[in-house]
Parts: sequence; C-alpha cells; structure tokens
Amino acid sequence: MNHAHSQSLFARAQARIPGGVNSPVRAFRGVGGDPVFFREGSGAWLTDVDGNRYVDLVGSWGPLILGHAYPPIVEAIIDAARRGSSFGAPHAGEVEFAEFICGTMPAVEMVRLVSSGTEATVAAIRVARGFTGREHILKFEGCFHGAGDPFLVKAGSGVETLGLPDSPGVPAALAKLTLTAPYNDLAAVERIFAEKGQDIACAIIEPVVGNMGVLVPKPGYLQGLQALCQKHGVLLVLDEVMTGFRLARGGAQEVYGLKPDLTTMAKVIGGGMPLGAYGGRADIMRKVAPAGPVYQSGTLSGNPVAVAAGLACLKALAAPGTYARLEQVSRMLEEGFIAEAKAAGVPVTVNRVGSMLTVFFTAEPVFDYTSAKTSDTGRFGRFFHAMLDAGVYLPPSQYEAAFVSLAIGEAEVAHVLGAARKAFRSLGQT
Ligand code: PMP
Repeated sequence: MNHAHSQSLFARAQARIPGGVNSPVRAFRGVGGDPVFFREGSGAWLTDVDGNRYVDLVGSWGPLILGHAYPPIVEAIIDAARRGSSFGAPHAGEVEFAEFICGTMPAVEMVRLVSSGTEATVAAIRVARGFTGREHILKFEGCFHGAGDPFLVKAGSGVETLGLPDSPGVPAALAKLTLTAPYNDLAAVERIFAEKGQDIACAIIEPVVGNMGVLVPKPGYLQGLQALCQKHGVLLVLDEVMTGFRLARGGAQEVYGLKPDLTTMAKVIGGGMPLGAYGGRADIMRKVAPAGPVYQSGTLSGNPVAVAAGLACLKALAAPGTYARLEQVSRMLEEGFIAEAKAAGVPVTVNRVGSMLTVFFTAEPVFDYTSAKTSDTGRFGRFFHAMLDAGVYLPPSQYEAAFVSLAIGEAEVAHVLGAARKAFRSLGQT
C-alpha cells in the first residue's frame, strides 16, 4: 500500500501540531509506524489521502454507529447550519433533545448538554462534589473518563498506550483526591468505602470498559457496586460516553438494570458532531447553575447543528431491530476472529459486549487492568499493520475497543475476516 501523501502530511503536521495529531492515540504510538490521513468516509468505508480504502472498525472512536456520512444526519446538519450555526441562546432543538434522552433513560430525569465527553465527566464530578460536600472520588484502574485533571490517574486509553502513568501538570494535591480500585473487584471497593466512604463524593465507572480494550463486567459486579454506593452515600456516576445508545438505546444501564445517580454521555448522542451530556436525579441536577450553585457553562453548549445531528442519529437508532442487527454483525466478527486465530495457531482472547470488541493477544482471560497487561502488544502491532495493509482500519492500540457500525454488512464482514485470516497466518509464522 502506498502512503506517500499521508507521510508527507504527517511530516508537515509534526512541525506544527504536537506529535502531528490533535489527540494522542491517533498517532500509532501503540503499533509503530505513521498515522494514515483520511480524505473521506462513506458508510462502512474510509478512503485515505492516497486513495487506499479500508473497512472502518474505529468509527471515530464510537460516534459513527450508523457509519460515515449517514444521509439523514448529513441532511440534518446542512438544514440546521442554514438556519444559523450557533445562537448562544436557547432553541427548541435542545428541549426536544433533553426530552428524548430523559424519555429513553429513566435514571436521567434532567440533563445538561456540553460539547464533549470530557466536559461531561468533569462537570459530573463537580456536581457530585457540590451535592455531597465530599472531595474524594473513586475511579477504576484502566478506565478512562477523558482528559480532565481528576481522571488522569491510572487511566487507560492513550495514557496507557503511551505508558504515561500520571500526567505532569496534574497537581499532586488534586490527584490525591482520586482513589482507585481494580475493575471487577467488589471486595476492593468494600475495603475503600469502609475506610474512607464518608469522604467520597462519587464512584465513576465505565460500565463496560472500552479504554483498556473491552473488559466485560462480571455477573453482579455493577449491581454490587451500585448497592455499595447506596450504602455509603457515594453517588454512582455511570460513564456511558462509549456505551450510551451503543449497547442498547438505554445504554449499559438498561442492559445491566442499573439506576445511577448521574450519567455521562457523548459520542453516539452527537451523531459525529461535538456533543456531550450529563444528567441524572433531578434533585442533584437542580444544583447546577443557574438553578443551583454548582457552576458549569459552555459557549457552544447545545449547539443547534450538533443537536440536529444527534437527534437525527438517535431517531434512526430508535427504528425496530437496530440493536439486534448490530449484535448479529458483531457476533459474526467475534466468531470469525476466534476461528481465524485458532486456525492460525495464534492464542487470543476476544472480549465483546454488543458492538464493542477487542482481540487481546493473550491466552489468559482478560477482566481487569492486570490481566489486560498480559497481552503481547508487539504481536498486536504486527496484526494491526497486516490488517491495515489488507484494507481494515482497527484502533491503533491493543488497549482500545473496536466499534462495529450498522453500515457493516455481510460483504464487509467477509472482507474483514479474509484480512484477519491473512493477518493471523502471518503472525503464526513469526
Ligand atoms: N469517557 C469515556 C468512557 C471515553 O471513552 C471518553 C473518550 N474516549 C471520554 C469519556 C472523553 O470523551 P471526549 O473524548 O469526547 O472528551
């Protein structure tokens, strides 16, 4: 595959953009080599600046559940932009959007719109602290909640890929307020709550982890966490930035029967435009300014173009059979990856929940940070490049989830699994 134009753009980008990218994991540090620059996306397919085509299993890291340039979303964006790209004042779309979210997720009684997942999680923590009057938070090892200061402690995703344990620039005094526990380990939470529960404002968790690769919650784990939170007056913040409207319309909380105090969302709800949200119990959300004293604001919050794109996306997802179809395609990919790896004699563990999937290059079961680290990341890097050469764009890190879109049909599944056969075989020989 020829990548001459990508390489030349990357050389220019590195002179003017740190690392040549506007978000770290895009830089292929986890797999080696230079990033690919894209020109166009249509349905399941991406075309790079050199004209190479790939089936996209990244989906912009989650938002593009309907594929690229989904016509009703494109129309909604154009239509909204014609009527003004921003008002900085209330508009009807925000009300419709809030009603839609609250009508779909019973635990979300009130919601505030922001422009990214990071804004949503940062605000949710502030509200939890403001509501409880407590300063500590609990997060889980390998969970990523965006680039907000309180979360860059034992974070997954790019922090993991780049091997940055904590980030310089995060004050130690602030980092000390973030307690961490292993994912899938209730006994650890019990110990921490017994010792410090009265100081902890909230526990924030990715219900299904996507940022250590996919980690699946053990049966009863999330429900047990919710019960422990209730017992200790610790608010449960479910970070559904990846899972919201992806695992089901009502997100992971619908799938696992949870009722979190606060929920954060982004990605799918914006249909590919910058849009995030946090919401939950009305008594908690009424603390948010101007209704209450906890401050949070945004010039472009509730942006009419983003809201129009998001509504078009969520309405399309409400069609009957959507999630069943997504499950079926995702299962075909999972079963295919397992079969091809086995045929090539490459030990893998494939974790999948709905349309989130990771092929870990380890024979061990992967259920937390420590077990995820048993993966052979060098092997993953070789697999990634073999797949890229065969026209499949996977997340360029072992510690990220692949996202399946509704644009992927049988032809794309066959293309991906044909590429996987070659890629696993090439590994089998190394
Ligand atoms: N929470 C989770 C679970 C995420 O996966 C991410 C981003 N991948 C974020 C929060 C941050 O969202 P954003 O990148 O939109 O700020």
